[in-house]
Amino acid sequence: MNKRSALENNNHFITEWLISQDVDVFGTGDMSGYNRELLGLDESAKERLPFAISFGLVLSKGILDTIIDGPHLLYLHHYRQLNYRLDMIGYFLSRGIEKKGYKALPFAASQIIDWQNQKAHISHKHIGIISGVGWIGRNNLLVHPVFGSHVRYNTVLTDMPLIADRALDGDCGECTACIDTCPAGAIKDAPSEFDHQGCYNMLTHFKNKRNLGHHICGICIKACKGKR
Ligand code: SF4
Ligand code: SF4
Repeated sequence: MNKRSALENNNHFITEWLISQDVDVFGTGDMSGYNRELLGLDESAKERLPFAISFGLVLSKGILDTIIDGPHLLYLHHYRQLNYRLDMIGYFLSRGIEKKGYKALPFAASQIIDWQNQKAHISHKHIGIISGVGWIGRNNLLVHPVFGSHVRYNTVLTDMPLIADRALDGDCGECTACIDTCPAGAIKDAPSEFDHQGCYNMLTHFKNKRNLGHHICGICIKACKGKR
């Protein structure tokens, strides 16, 4: 088997496995394009595990439709269940890769390491970008061309040689659907002007006032519905 065929076989294995788990969105990325630190982890993992697999599950439209003026306990439950499922998919995908003789590192779908700066070990958003899954929208979230921001993501890094997808050449264009919906006024015309502190303050308000115990919102996620 030539090198190209071996790579295609590996990609085929990952694709078929993720489809078998009902994963809605996925892509593969080259970690040399990931210009961020692996917070709290050995940075050499980026060289030792040079391929990223980005995968996501689409949020229930029925649940999102119930978000009117902010998050509630049913949305929190849905959010946590998707995270749990994404963690399990990451674990079992990694095990499948290891059984083929390669290394794999599964991450957590939602686990903040640095609370002050709201950062995790890895940025699923930026892994999604290098894996051709979407772009950073005005709402500071990853925007998929079909599902908008209605997706939650996780990541597995591996040394299984893969053909990496190309980053998408997309952006929000003329859409401003999320700007007026944000109760904090945090979303601006330019994604670079997103008001992180204003958003975080609003999430803290929801957390404390709605008995959630988690920094969640859902309003601009609902607004960014892509082609759904
Ligand atoms: S998560 Fe909520 S507060 Fe933050 S930008 Fe979106 S709508 Fe605004
Ligand atoms: S709702 Fe529109 S402007 Fe806002 S992030 Fe999504 S695509 Fe971009």
